[in-house]
Amino acid sequence: MNTGLIFTNENCIGCNKCVRICCSFGASVSYNRPDHSSIFINPERCIGCGACIDVCTHGARNYHDDTEQFFADLSKGEAISLLIAPAFEARYPKEYKKVLGALKALGVRRMLPVSLGADICTWAYLKLINEKGYTGRISTTCPVVVSFVEHWMPKLLQKLMPVKSPMMCAAQYFRQELGITDKFAFVGPCIAKRAEMDKYPELVQYNITFPKLIEYVNRYGLGNEERFEGLDAGLGTFYPAPGGLADNIKWFMGDDTPVRVISGKTYLYQRFRKNWKKLTTDNQPFVLYDALNCREGCLEGTARIEDDGREDRSFSAISDIRANSKCSSADSPWSPELSCAERLENLNRQFASLDINDYLTGFEDKSAVCRISYPTNEEAEAIFLSMHKETEHSREINCSACGYNTCRDMMIAIHNGFNTRHNCVYSEKEETLFLTKMSFSDTLTGVMNRNAYERKLKTMFARGGQVGLIIADVNGLKQANDNEGHAAGDRLIIETAHALANEFGVECVFRTGGDEFLVILQDFGKAEIESDISLVKEYLASVNVSVAMGLAFTEHFDGDIDTLREAADKKMYEDKESYYRMTGNNRRI
Ligand code: SF4
Ligand code: SF4
Ligand code: SF4
Repeated sequence: MNTGLIFTNENCIGCNKCVRICCSFGASVSYNRPDHSSIFINPERCIGCGACIDVCTHGARNYHDDTEQFFADLSKGEAISLLIAPAFEARYPKEYKKVLGALKALGVRRMLPVSLGADICTWAYLKLINEKGYTGRISTTCPVVVSFVEHWMPKLLQKLMPVKSPMMCAAQYFRQELGITDKFAFVGPCIAKRAEMDKYPELVQYNITFPKLIEYVNRYGLGNEERFEGLDAGLGTFYPAPGGLADNIKWFMGDDTPVRVISGKTYLYQRFRKNWKKLTTDNQPFVLYDALNCREGCLEGTARIEDDGREDRSFSAISDIRANSKCSSADSPWSPELSCAERLENLNRQFASLDINDYLTGFEDKSAVCRISYPTNEEAEAIFLSMHKETEHSREINCSACGYNTCRDMMIAIHNGFNTRHNCVYSEKEETLFLTKMSFSDTLTGVMNRNAYERKLKTMFARGGQVGLIIADVNGLKQANDNEGHAAGDRLIIETAHALANEFGVECVFRTGGDEFLVILQDFGKAEIESDISLVKEYLASVNVSVAMGLAFTEHFDGDIDTLREAADKKMYEDKESYYRMTGNNRRI
């Protein structure tokens, strides 16, 4: 449980927000703890989008990276160089130099810019678009986008641009072209980069995220600005901005080039799910889909220091970095004075020695781990019944409190073991009502039982005011039991109970003995109650049931129920006497 990259800690209170936001059905799994439910993450289904970290207001979601391991290995003298994402400077301008200077002082060998890898990425994309006609493809700079397609949309695998990410292109270049054999630590904003590292373990070894790195440096007071050395690269520095890749493509293909920029955790995956048919056709209106998991791109990646209002400042900073990376030299791909074709010529010249195949990658169909089992009609029925959902209406409440859009989705989640019926508020409410009913209602007649009577007395005492107390006792019960059997006796009791409940309300009628009922009425006038008693008797006579009833009434109840009860009892026996006189029955029956 919770062994994956992103995990739930002990702060989880089972609010289900993470279930609701998750684009990967079954990645967030509910289970019952003694006091409340909680959620764990199934790492096979989790695509590392980080939406649940954003949405959890209880600080119950966290993630693993390699920061601690990196520092441990560095202190042991491991040769490690850094691959630094361009978002670092833009997003954390204050910490940037201090942190990197500290790492240099601790023995990091080299500081290498990932933006050079982004430039290689642009070069490879343009080659595939221009030379192989790979248009209408989905960008693969974001590992979460790739993971989503691999897990949930294998039909789109053929539409992914088969180019390594900027981080991997950079690592490939530095290893192959510069012969660097140090271990590489990627300093970046992305939790899910670990997936790429696991795919190419020989290229990059550590994923160090900005927040955990900054926290570590602050914790040990390691800042050292003097040791920082600047980094250099082209327009790839703009990749972390939303539409950064599109910006690079247009730089070489012209501003009118149709590149669709699409980003945002929930939005992006909804679009993919909705439009997958259009996306798989060959006739695409766009040269490229520049797709990123995070709405603000890597500037506000999945691993970031929260809510510090840096979004606009970061975007402005990355725009400045972009402007500064332009160069007016005639042989530079980044010269604004040159035409698009001339820039592309320069870019191709810059990377002429590279073999594009070294920068390409493949993708895997991982949808088998995300399979969903759909219940048969009988199985669905059984699950709904276990949720106390017997009617169609109750199966379409769709309140989403469980985290799913519909009750049907919840039923499917239960069928797959992703959730339990206890997480359905309707089910729990019905269960509570049922248990309450069981403990306060009489099983034979459905009216209130003695427990309910005791409870009623407590609330009555607090209220005071007008109180009418009726005692009703079935006439001729023993005779019916002896002569016609217990079913006949039960009928008399049930008819009496139902007549009283229909007239006075079930919550006011208490079965306190075998054939004895108490009716407690508050805020009713005496005349009204007497008239209702006549109606009850009249109705019961029509179904051949006779009942003796006695009423005691007070305008100001002072809590003395015994006196009231004695008075009602007395009246009831007077009534019974008249029944005996009239029928000539033995008074003991
Ligand atoms: S959002 Fe998820 S992890 Fe956070 S408290 Fe709610 S159920 Fe737990
Ligand atoms: S990181 Fe994304 S896919 Fe994984 S559990 Fe959280 S919301 Fe779901
Ligand atoms: S009624 Fe229950 S199953 Fe339906 S959406 Fe609400 S919590 Fe989920």
